[in-house]
Parts: sequence; C-alpha cells; structure tokens
Amino acid sequence: MQNGGHKNDVDPIKTDVLIVGAGAAGLRAAIELAREGVDVLVLGKRRHGDAHTVWAAGGINASLGNLDPDDRWEIHAADTIGEGHFVNDPRAVEILAREAPERILELRDWGCPFSLTEDGELNQRYFGAQSFRRTCFAGDRTGEAIMGTLVDKAKEVGVRYREDVYVTKLLKSGGRVNGAAGFDMRSGRRLLFGARAVVLAAGGYTSIYRRGSSRPDENNGDAMALAYEVGAVLKDMEFVQFHPTGMIEPEEMDGRLVTEAVRGEGGRLYNSEGERFMERHSPDHMELDARDVVARANYREIRDGRGTPDGAVLLDISHRDAGYIKDRLPNMYEQFMEQGVDITKEPMKVSPTAHYGMGGIEVNPRTGATAVEGLFAVGESAAGVHGANRLGGNSLAETVVFGKILGEHLAGALDDLPPAPLDREAAREHFAALGALESGTGEADPQELIDELRELVWDQAGIVRTGDGLREGIAKLRGLRERAGGLAIPDASPSRQFEHALNLRAMLTAAESVMRGALAREESRGAHHREDFPEEADGWRKNILCAADEGGDMHLWTEPVGEVPAEIQKALDEDYSLDYHYLE
Ligand SMILES: Cc1cc2nc3c(=O)[nH]c(=O)nc-3n(C[C@H](O)[C@H](O)[C@H](O)COP(=O)(O)OP(=O)(O)OC[C@H]3O[C@@H](n4cnc5c(N)ncnc54)[C@H](O)[C@@H]3O)c2cc1C
Repeated sequence: MQNGGHKNDVDPIKTDVLIVGAGAAGLRAAIELAREGVDVLVLGKRRHGDAHTVWAAGGINASLGNLDPDDRWEIHAADTIGEGHFVNDPRAVEILAREAPERILELRDWGCPFSLTEDGELNQRYFGAQSFRRTCFAGDRTGEAIMGTLVDKAKEVGVRYREDVYVTKLLKSGGRVNGAAGFDMRSGRRLLFGARAVVLAAGGYTSIYRRGSSRPDENNGDAMALAYEVGAVLKDMEFVQFHPTGMIEPEEMDGRLVTEAVRGEGGRLYNSEGERFMERHSPDHMELDARDVVARANYREIRDGRGTPDGAVLLDISHRDAGYIKDRLPNMYEQFMEQGVDITKEPMKVSPTAHYGMGGIEVNPRTGATAVEGLFAVGESAAGVHGANRLGGNSLAETVVFGKILGEHLAGALDDLPPAPLDREAAREHFAALGALESGTGEADPQELIDELRELVWDQAGIVRTGDGLREGIAKLRGLRERAGGLAIPDASPSRQFEHALNLRAMLTAAESVMRGALAREESRGAHHREDFPEEADGWRKNILCAADEGGDMHLWTEPVGEVPAEIQKALDEDYSLDYHYLE
C-alpha cells in the first residue's frame, strides 16, 4: 500500500519467502514451503496458472521403467550427461535422475491427468537421445496439465499469489537479499516486498534471439539480470539450444515449434534447389540426427542462399498418406491448416528457433542457494543440470525435483534468516529511477532497440558463431546499451513501452553474458558451435562463470566440472545410448 508520504515511499508487503515466478518451479517450491507451515507469496507477470510452463508439450522424464523395465536412474543420468557433453553438474544430474520418479508419481497422486497404459500405469514414450521410453506425458499438453495440478495444490495448501507483478529489483540489507521492488502491471502502482529469503523462478533467456519458441514477453532473462545485479554468479550462458524447425509465418507464429515428430514420421528437408540436403550434412542419420546437427544444417542452407526468399527451408511429409498424417500429426495438420497450408499436399516452411537456455544462475543443487545470502534460484532460471545441451523432457522434471528440494531446504533454514529491516533508501532511489525511466523523453524506442538486440544476438551469437562475429556483436551491444540510456516513453503509465524498456534492460545483461561466454569458449560443444574452433576440446571440459566486478563490469572465469559419480560412470561406460531414430 502506498502511504501518505512521498510517492516513492511505499509500505512493504511482508512474507517469509517471496517467490518471483509462478511456473512449475516456483509453484513446486511454494507448495513445499507452505506444507512446512511457511508463509509464502508467489509473484507472476501473468494470470495465475499462465506461465511459460503451459507451453511445454512433449513430456517429462523419469526412469519409471513402465514400458522398458531395464531403465534405471543411472542410465537416465548417463543419457543426461552424454547429451550435455560432460559439462553438467554431476550432483544435479544425480539428484534429477534419482528423484524424478517420485516427483512424477506425486503429481499423478495430486490428480495430474497423465496418459496411461492399458494397465493403468503412466505411459512413457521415446524422446530424442534417450536409451529407453522414459518420457511421461499428458497427450501433447503436458505442461498445461502439470501447471493445473500445481495451481490446485498450491491453493489447497494456502500459497498466496499475486498476478500481474513485474519485479524490477532485489533489495539487500547487510549483504543479504531480503526483499524486492516492482510494480503492478495493470495500475502502474509501485510495490515493495519484504521477506526473509527470495527465490528466483522467473524462467530463461531465449527471447534475446530474433526467433524463439516461447512468447516474446517471456524468457527475457529477468532472473539472470536481477541476480547478477545483486552479485550472484551466472554459469554456462553460452549454451543455447536451437530447435531445427520453427514456423516462419505469420508474424505472430514466427518461431513456433514444428514438432520433431514430423521428421520422426518421415518428413524430409529440402532446400530451394529441391535438394534433400541432409544427404550432404549427415548421410547416415539424415533428418533424424541430433537437434543441433539438423539446426546447423538448416541454418547453413538458408545462410548460403539455398533457402526460400523469405528465409526458410522446406519440410515435406506430403509423400505419406493423407490419412496417416492426420492421424499421427493432428496438431501440426491443424496448426498449418489454420494458415492455409495443407501439409498432406505441400511442404512447410521452417527455420531454426531458439528453444532453451541451458545456462542461468549458479546454484547449489542440494539447496537452491546462490552465491548471495538469502537468494535462491530454481527451474529454467538456474544452471547446472543440462550442461551443453538439454535432453527433451528434462526441464519439466527439473522444475518439480528442484522445486521440492529448495522448498524443503529453505523451510529448515529460515531460522538462520531472521527478518531484517528493508533498505528503504535503496527502494526509494529505485522507484525514483523507475519514474525517470517511465517518463523518458530520449530518442530511442524500446521495442526498436529490442528488435535490434534480437537481430544482433541471432546473427552474432546464434547457431553458428565465430570469434570475429562475437567481438563485433559485443561492440554493437555496447552501442545499444548506450542508446538504451535515452529511451522515449511517450505513453502514460502503465505502458507497454515501459515494460519493454525493462525487458530490454534484462536482455542486455543476458545477451552480454551469452556473447562473452561464447567468445571465451574456444571450442564447439553441444549446442555451442564455433566455426573457427569446430572440434570439442578436452581442455574445455569446464564451466564458464561470470559476475559483476566492483566497477560493475562483467568478468568471466572458468571452473572444472565435478567428478561423475561411479554409478553413473558405469552406466556411461555401458553405453546404452540410442540413435535418434525413435521420435514421437
Ligand atoms: C514450446 C516449448 C515446449 C517445451 N516442451 C517441453 C517439454 O515437452 N518437456 C520439458 O521438459 N520441457 C519443455 N520445455 C521447457 C519447459 O517448458 C521450461 O523449461 C519450464 O516450463 C520452465 O519452468 P519455470 O517454472 O522454470 O519457468 P516459467 O514457466 O517460464 O515461469 C516463469 C515465471 O516467472 C514469472 N516472471 C518472469 N520474470 C518476472 C519478473 N520480472 N517479475 C515477476 N515475475 C516474473 C513469469 O510470469 C512466470 O510466472 C518447452 C519449452 C518450450 C518453449
């Protein structure tokens, strides 16, 4: 509530634990805290139940062995580390693989409508690069089903929630994070929160790319920027997964996923010269090679002038029977029919799209703690589990596994985090700065700068990177940052332009960390491909971390990867991994 004094004096809303982010990760952490009797408040930018998680379609991994009884947690862990090219945090991978089965059965017990086998067991399907059928699903709406279940459970255990809140700053007292500032996106009203601990569960950073598979106002890197500004460490930011096939039109569908299943069902990729170009790029695996290989092939065809005039390659499944296509790919059939494209008769235009950022805030996977006291992170905001490339189905598992662990740990640690007075002066200064930004009379339009940033990151830190390109990109980013110092926000508060200005601020930090990490990593590994260093280098089996130095500049360093536990190493040596030929 705003009090009667100066407009930048805002009365704080108090809670024990403040969770910034209402996707699966934030909700699962909140549920655990509430069950332990902790007062918890969850904030989200959208309506309750609508977070990016609802877009997850394919499924969630756990080695339940319902269809393939030989599956074990060690093999799930080995697949995860293999696909992550050995730079995952082995502790995090072990926890994920060991605990995913219990978390998924719990979701089922809470009413999540997973698809079942005829025996009433959770059904499981193949997903790329997994040795067994391990991916549980609820039709092709798994994320939505999980979110619905978590929202109901959160209500049942008394989690408090606030919609349409944009958190713009974390507040610290005596080196410890104990609050946050922001505003109500409907009224523009400033908001101040006081807490004993703050959890960042605010999603990822793929929206820094021109084409991405999430909604454009999500995954802006808010979590990374908020954490970075208070001294937390970011890790693995250079690793960004590109999906080979995203739609290119209409504009509002640009980047939207065209499921891997189209290729799984026999879809072929052609360039504008009618050549089935995967014969050149991957004669053995063709269209079913790993995501990063196919994404690079599509990208290179388009870049080298063999794409369509509007920048796509062609994905064609029309050689298959129309009835079969409608039966096996009903959603894709509908998605394209709505755009006037009948995929039973004609090809789809597709181009790679940024899909998942493996990097994020460095955390201790056993607690969710960051390098800053009182600050925790979970879900797509945190780094460690996925290494250089993510296994499909692992990120939903990550949200519930680590959400529970974080909640459980934090409930027990709150005695060490007694309430501390908020730094009201810092909050006042921040609100004054927000006010100045919101009435900006500068030259630059925030949305135009975002568009420029997205083009820049796509061109210089995209699917294929070079040292020269990255250096040029970093220099141009500096120019963008300067221009972002003089923004024009002509509309009255609250305005979309103001939100864009704040999104831009976060995106600048995320983009810099991606570009600087990509420049530092002089090798190719997983989703990170350097044309000037095309091979994976043993000496680079390490993580790149970054944080703000005392002068506020970003500095980077490397750390060795932890040792792989013996049980997982054994499974790696047994080499279960399957080809990419079982896509559903
Ligand atoms: C198209 C698509 C399909 C996918 N399919 C799968 C799949 O099949 N299986 C799988 O495992 N993974 C999949 N993923 C990935 C998976 O969906 C995500 O990694 C996961 O849902 C992230 O959950 P989260 O809780 O960490 O964050 P999110 O669900 O992104 O939630 C972030 C929350 O933070 C809030 N927030 C952000 N910034 C702020 C701020 N400044 N102030 C206040 N609130 C803020 C948002 O409003 C939101 O509530 C897919 C991703 C995409 C794009």
